[in-house]
Amino acid sequence: LIKVEHLHKKFKNQEVLHDISVEIHKGDVISIIGPSGSGKSTFLRCLNALESPTKGDVFFEGQSVLRSKNVDVLRQKMGMVFQQFNLFPHMSILDNLTLGPRKLLKKSKEEAEEKAMALLKRVGLEDKAGQFPLQLSGGQQQRVAIVRALAMEPDVMLFDEPTSALDPEMVGEVLQVMRDLAEEKMTMVVVTHEMGFAREVSNRVLFLEDGYFITEAAPEDFFYHCENERVQSFLSKVL
Ligand code: ATP
Ligand code: MG
Repeated sequence: LIKVEHLHKKFKNQEVLHDISVEIHKGDVISIIGPSGSGKSTFLRCLNALESPTKGDVFFEGQSVLRSKNVDVLRQKMGMVFQQFNLFPHMSILDNLTLGPRKLLKKSKEEAEEKAMALLKRVGLEDKAGQFPLQLSGGQQQRVAIVRALAMEPDVMLFDEPTSALDPEMVGEVLQVMRDLAEEKMTMVVVTHEMGFAREVSNRVLFLEDGYFITEAAPEDFFYHCENERVQSFLSKVL
């Protein structure tokens, strides 16, 4: 589904990603783990062309992201959820959810609203449709942000630390939505500090450090049998 080939990224003189190659298949749930500043967000942003690589390329469904003429279509197919929920504050929850489908997918108001209500129901928020983002808790806002991305019917969902800005008691409800998505076989790439999620939900773990792609492993191997010193040192700090 996504093929990353020899990806390099420099900001001025600082090389933030060094020669990263990886393939993401349909149905994969990939956790990207690594210390702060290791390049996780930059990597994720290169996947959907929010950043452009200095060298190398990303292919999405066989098409070069770098040379893509229609980045909007590409981004529709790659839903993204950020740490800060990024909902439009002046729009109701329902309008947040229907804007993209109406404008970009050319859906009728009725069709977009029907779909939005079904999605809200799925995350237990159908009674919030008429409210505004700031009237919702952080966990509720993040669940809305996830279904807003889903409303665009993406082929893959990219998450950048979706639970890091949440109060602890709200982390679980957001992780549950992500678990459900994984169970429905949504392809997901998740930058996360939630080791439980990485271990239980993902099928592959990618470890980045200082912009180097250090290792890739099944969660079981990564958490219990990885002999790489850097991984061990990282895990000793977070587990
Ligand atoms: P965190 O866990 O703290 O979110 P991260 O692994 O996501 O960290 P990145 O945000 O990808 O790390 O940043 C990697 C490096 O690139 C950092 O040293 C950061 O300062 C630098 N960097 C990121 N974005 C930019 C930018 N737009 N301009 C210049 N430098 C940047
Ligand atoms: Mg980051």
